[in-house]
Amino acid sequence: MTSASPEARLGAVRATILKSAKRAGRKPEEVTLIAVSKTKGVEEIRPLLDAGHRIFGENRVQEAADKWPALRAEHSDVALHLVGQLQSNKADEAVALFDAIHSVDRPSLVEALAKAMDRFGRRPGCFIQVNIGAEPQKGGCAVDQLPELLTFARECGLPIAGLMCIPPAAVEPAPYFALLAKLAKDHGLDGLSMGMSSDFETAIMIGATHVRVGTALFGERA
Ligand SMILES: *Cc1c(COP(=O)(O)O)cnc(C)c1O
Repeated sequence: MTSASPEARLGAVRATILKSAKRAGRKPEEVTLIAVSKTKGVEEIRPLLDAGHRIFGENRVQEAADKWPALRAEHSDVALHLVGQLQSNKADEAVALFDAIHSVDRPSLVEALAKAMDRFGRRPGCFIQVNIGAEPQKGGCAVDQLPELLTFARECGLPIAGLMCIPPAAVEPAPYFALLAKLAKDHGLDGLSMGMSSDFETAIMIGATHVRVGTALFGERA
């Protein structure tokens, strides 16, 4: 797959999204494909832009700030999603640069983002990241802390787009996706950011609205 052209890989991923959505009785336009371009240079990103794709994900603020202003000068309709962990002291830069933030996971970050949004008059949609497998090394709020964090985020006026998770590696992800979908439903949230290259078909079957796909589009990362 990695020897295929970027356009061909994009076509294949889009076709898989279409097929999975159909199989789940869902409309394909309910699923947003975020092309995760972390570690990839502008020359690797450009072919996807030329093929008409406009929604991209990065996991580091600094890397995105280095790469995207030039690409955005060429394509003003690009939407950038932050999918990686965010330090509170980078909240200003993140709010200025991104159109959505998928890694909101603690009250201090909620406060920093709310302040940054007021300052910049920009309100990127926020996904609350849930540490769905209770893994100590992973970001995300604990499942039992989600209600409190959501209440706080709403009090601070954060625009909540939905929930996000990264399930544990090397085990069947479906139960974790199903748990995230249930938590979103319980809290009246529509957005479900779940599914990466290896499991986005499963995620779409279980209700994903945003799939974050890197390797299947760009090839392996170094
Ligand atoms: C890197 C990354 C992805 C994309 O992973 P692939 O397996 O390359 O598709 C998705 N989500 C997050 C949070 C990531 O850091």
